[in-house]
Amino acid sequence: MKQKLSVIGAGTMGTGISQLAATHGWDVSLIDSNLDALGQSRSSLHSVMNSLVEKEKFSLEESGEILSRIQWTSDIKSISDSKLVIEAVIENMAVKQKIFSDIESFVSNNCIISTNTSSLSVAGIASSCSNLTRIVGIHFFNPVPLMKLVEVVPVEQTDSDLIENVKSTLQSWGKTVVIAKDTPGFIVNRVARLFYGEALRIYDEGLADFATIDWAMKEFGGFKMGPFELMDYIGNDVNYNATESVYFGSNYNPRYKPSPTQKKMVDEGLLGRKSGQGYYDYSNGAAMPQPVEDKNSGKKIFNRILAMLINEAADTLNLAIASRDDIDTAMTIGVNYPKGLLKWADEIGIESVCTRLIKFQSHSDDDRYKPCSLLIKMAKENYNFYA
Ligand code: NAD
Repeated sequence: MKQKLSVIGAGTMGTGISQLAATHGWDVSLIDSNLDALGQSRSSLHSVMNSLVEKEKFSLEESGEILSRIQWTSDIKSISDSKLVIEAVIENMAVKQKIFSDIESFVSNNCIISTNTSSLSVAGIASSCSNLTRIVGIHFFNPVPLMKLVEVVPVEQTDSDLIENVKSTLQSWGKTVVIAKDTPGFIVNRVARLFYGEALRIYDEGLADFATIDWAMKEFGGFKMGPFELMDYIGNDVNYNATESVYFGSNYNPRYKPSPTQKKMVDEGLLGRKSGQGYYDYSNGAAMPQPVEDKNSGKKIFNRILAMLINEAADTLNLAIASRDDIDTAMTIGVNYPKGLLKWADEIGIESVCTRLIKFQSHSDDDRYKPCSLLIKMAKENYNFYA
């Protein structure tokens, strides 16, 4: 029997999810209330498929078959015979809640209902539904067909067989699945906040410029991109909103405190590559600033950011947001970190990470540097994340 997926919201994510599922043989109904968005989604997917045919990833016939499996429509009733529905509309709680209650009224009892939200609470979105056992967050990354990681986010009531079922569907679509608790930022968007936030803090303290901080993270940490290059790539507005939402969602935990420098840049429209100027100037002929390649200060920058990342990963484990392996997998597969952070912690030594954090805390008198209770316990009892 053919499997049917319905995707609500034919924007960047909805279109990518539809492409992925149709490529793996699923019939897809892609729904949007805006006819222009539907038209744009259809034409962008046709050009994506044409370029994949040119690159010989698919034959013309295969590409035609994939596209023929997708039905672009504004009729939400077309979701009625779906096995799985993924909501991917704008990031707005009220809009998503309304869509969830509509979905529940149209689908059969055994249809799985999910959201691709990156920053809202899955349980909050589903609060408009009467049956929460078949609700789950399925958080894809952009671009969906290329990004291997998917965070699956059950709510408290989600049926455990259903989680396994969703996991195996996603694996059959070629994805690596991690399971995360329904908490702000899940795994990746939570832990990665520190990569950007601490880099901005170092800049705000006047210790180094953007190019030097980026150089230090690549040179001593083996990161593929530095934090400022990456923020320019993601877009300062998108990155700032993600930080703000984790900060608010965590009741103003000082670790996620947004940077005034980034806020100012957003207000000035310095959004990064997409606006032509961010931390760096992307206009034609502009020279890239050169880092100050001082080994001592470069290592200090890297050690400080890494200690904060490790602390965040440890706290994510401590709060049972995800398992040790899923935290390390999420950061290596999801955002290309050179090593799992908990594995990295073992290599450096937990005690040494704790000592660094306590030193930053006492110098700054700021609780953002406070080591999490798990790290302190591990340092005292001298054990590692990986035995
Ligand atoms: P987008 O703005 O590109 O697309 C959203 C689409 O939803 C638009 O086409 C809009 O017309 C449609 N829409 C709005 N209200 C609707 C309604 N009531 N019924 C039907 N369609 C409606 O957004 P996006 O970037 O694709 O993001 C979608 C979701 O995925 C958001 O929750 C976002 O947080 C999440 N997400 C985005 C990314 C990313 O990098 N863009 C990554 C992971 C998750």
